[in-house]
This record gives sequence, structure tokens and C-alpha cells, in this order.
Amino acid sequence: MSDLDALTSSAYSQALEVIASVEPRVAEATRQELADQRGSLKLIASENYASPAVLLTMGTWLSDKYAEGTVGHRFYAGCQNIDTVEALAAEHARELFGAEYAYAQPHSGIDANLVAFWSILAHRVEGPWLEKAGSKNVNELTEADWEKLRHELGNQRLLGMSLDAGGHLTHGFRPNISGKMFHQQQYGTDPETGLLDYDAVAAKAREFKPLVLVAGYSAYPRRVNFAKMREIADEVGATLMVDMAHFAGLVAGKVFTGDEDPVPHAHIVTTTTHKSLRGPRGGMVLATEEYAPSVDRGCPMVLGGPLGHVMAAKAVALAEARQPAFQTYAQRVADNAQSLAEGFTKRGATLVTGGTDNHLVLLDVSGFGLTGRQAESALLDAGVVTNRNSVPADPNGAWYTSGIRLGTPALTTRGFGHDEFDRTAELIVEVLRNTEAGTTKAGGPSKASYALADGVAAKVRDASAEMLDKHPLYPGLDLA
Ligand SMILES: *Cc1c(COP(=O)(O)O)cnc(C)c1O
Repeated sequence: MSDLDALTSSAYSQALEVIASVEPRVAEATRQELADQRGSLKLIASENYASPAVLLTMGTWLSDKYAEGTVGHRFYAGCQNIDTVEALAAEHARELFGAEYAYAQPHSGIDANLVAFWSILAHRVEGPWLEKAGSKNVNELTEADWEKLRHELGNQRLLGMSLDAGGHLTHGFRPNISGKMFHQQQYGTDPETGLLDYDAVAAKAREFKPLVLVAGYSAYPRRVNFAKMREIADEVGATLMVDMAHFAGLVAGKVFTGDEDPVPHAHIVTTTTHKSLRGPRGGMVLATEEYAPSVDRGCPMVLGGPLGHVMAAKAVALAEARQPAFQTYAQRVADNAQSLAEGFTKRGATLVTGGTDNHLVLLDVSGFGLTGRQAESALLDAGVVTNRNSVPADPNGAWYTSGIRLGTPALTTRGFGHDEFDRTAELIVEVLRNTEAGTTKAGGPSKASYALADGVAAKVRDASAEMLDKHPLYPGLDLA
């Protein structure tokens, strides 16, 4: 055990004792979560394992400080140390991504998107409107003027990728606030190939003339050409917003470069920090200088007070992502997704778009006679943690679905390589082949119940344990 491992182990052992002295059930659940994560094949594409340094950074009194405002310009006194950590997070982000401006305060990816939306509305709609009205400040408007401005702000258009093509809820999905506060339209993928059709996106954009064009995804297993997206946005006068929540690690690790790197092409880029980027649970906005002043109004106009302890952990995680080792990691994430995809196709399973060139694969389980819900449950019984996901034009809807989304970031962090991902595909296919869809009480086909053949779960768990034991999670961490 290295000195650092020994320090980490004693830090956590002691921290858990302190927690247990107040509420032992919380300490116990925390211990159990480590055991559970260590013992399962985690293939959830949006999850990862942050380093002990990142995790430890979150457990401090930086949480105790209010710091609404921006670095050096706070609504509270005594924010010098929060200024330090927020400025460091922003500096690392700018350097890592080559961004003109970085805003480290958003508490999550959805919050980052809300900041971006309001920033675009402020910069493109409210600012010009106020100028025309001969005012610089909404507080100076008459009630009648304010009513008109509200009408303007509430009547803008957004074009984003549809949920069942792989987009996110916040990209204009009707029930989400993004689909209510904007007039929305959605673009999908080509029904034949499952791939983004840029000509179709451009045609839609020309007709709809959105204020905001959103690119980015949660479940699209392919790369996106952001230079083309910017051309489309420019042609129709839209702001290009790229949500790289899922693939920020591949951008940071220089797997996505040139036209596939959103930062040089987008006006605004939003992200989470906890997915492939492997940082603390949180969000971030990158922007051009043009949008920086309106992004800065995020807190307290859109967001609650910034989380000093989490911004500190973002700074630590981004410092890690600037190390050469992170580029090796990111390349392995992409290579491993290839191995996983090939592992499925060579065993006859169907993948949406026929494969992957990012960190995730979308397995269409209808060929096994199952819904996504049944597949997800059977796999969980066998210790394989995934999530069900719609496939394009899904006949089973967004709740039962026909797909399983699988990602490589987490197990790659544990050290899995080609052979382990090929074996993982084999185990998943074995579970699905041995799962039968159940019937409803009325005797019809059920979309939820299922039966996994005897012995399969235990066999798969044993085979997984063998791989997991070879690649321990937090290898130096030994809780007393
Ligand atoms: C995960 C995700 C989000 C939301 O992130 P949260 O931190 O859960 O709020 C937003 N956009 C995309 C594309 C995502 O994949």
C-alpha cells in the first residue's frame, strides 16, 4: 500500500466513525455503497468513479460559505477562499478545453442548461429589447413594457435532438421546462441508418428559424460534426449551444478533436463534471467572450448559491484531466466501447446505428423478445448495472423501451480493457438469451415481468467477480 493509499484509507475510516457517532445508518449506507459498487459491473453510461482526491475535496467546510455572485464580485463578505477555488476551476477548464470563458457554478447538467438558456435569452432578446426601449434595466420598465418584454422572452424558438433519437430531456422535450418555455421543434436521426442527417437538420432549421440550436446527446452512440452544426446555426442566425454532458471526457482527453470538438464551434457549451469527465457531481458552462457577461448572471438569477466544496472538487478533477494520463484514459474509453460493440455484433445482437464511435452503445433487445425494462431487470439480477433506453421510433415508449444503454467510462476507470469488455458482452448476451418475457394476469404478453433461467444469474455473477477482483475499485482504499 502506498503512503497516499494509507492516508486515504485512514481518512475515510475516521470520517465514517465521526459520521456514525451521529447517525450510524448513514455511515452504514455509505460503507454499503462502496461494497455494492465494488461488486457490480457498472455499465451505466453516465456514471464513473471519481478519484479519492476529488471525493475528499467535497467533504469540507468550503460548504459552509455563501458566495452568490462571481469571483471577486460577491453579495457576501469573506469569500476570498471560495474565489480562489472557483477561479482555479475556471482556469483549469479554460486551459483544458481551450475555452474563452468558463463558469464553474452550476450544480448539475440541467442547471448548466438553464443558465445557458437564460444567458442566450438575456443576450439575444432582453438586451437588444431594452436598448430599443431606451432602458438598461428591467427595474425601470413600466408594467406595460415589462409585459411586452415577458412576451418576447416567452416566445422564442429552440431546435434540439429528440429524446428517442438520443437527445436529452432539456433539449426541448415537451414535458421539460425547455419544451414549455420555448416554442420547440426536434430533429431526429435517419430512420434507415440511425445516424444524424445534417441536411435534414439544416432543412428544419431553415424552416423553423430557431433562436437556439442545441446539439449534444445522452444516448446517441456516434460522434457529431459540430462545424456542420455551426454552419447551420449561422445560416439561420441561431445560437449554437452544445451540451457535452456525456462526452466531455472525450473532448478533454483529445479523442474528439477538430470538427468533433464542440468548444471552437459553439457559442455556448454546457456539461456535467461527473460523467466521462470523472469529476464531482456538478455542471459547468463554457462560453465565448460574447456570452460571458450573461452567463455570469447565472447565480443568483437562475441558480442557488454556489457549492464551494464542489467547485473545489471540480478544480481538482480538472487538474487531473489536464494530466497526460487522462488522454490515455479517454482513448481507452473509446477503444473499449469498440470492443464492447464488436462483442455484441459478433454474437448476433443488434446495435442502434450498427456500432459506436464514442463511449456508449445502444443495444436493441427486441431481437431477444424482451423490452428494455425486462432486460434491465434480468441483468441487474445478474449483477450487471445498466439502464433501459428508448431506441428510435420505439414501439414500447419511453417507460418500457426496447433498448439498453451501456457505457465504458466507469469500468475503464477500474482498468477493464478489450478482453474484459468482450467477456462483458458475452455475459450480457447470455443473460438476455436466457430471459423470457412474462405474461400479464390476463394472459397477454407483459412488458415488465420476466423469468431468468435458473443458475444463470449466479454463473454471470461469478464470472463478473473474477474480472472485478482483478481490477479493484479504489484499490488502495481499505476501510477499518
Ligand atoms: C446527464 C445529462 C444532463 C443532466 O445532468 P444532471 O447533472 O443530471 O443534471 C444534461 N444533458 C445531457 C446531454 C446529459 O446527458
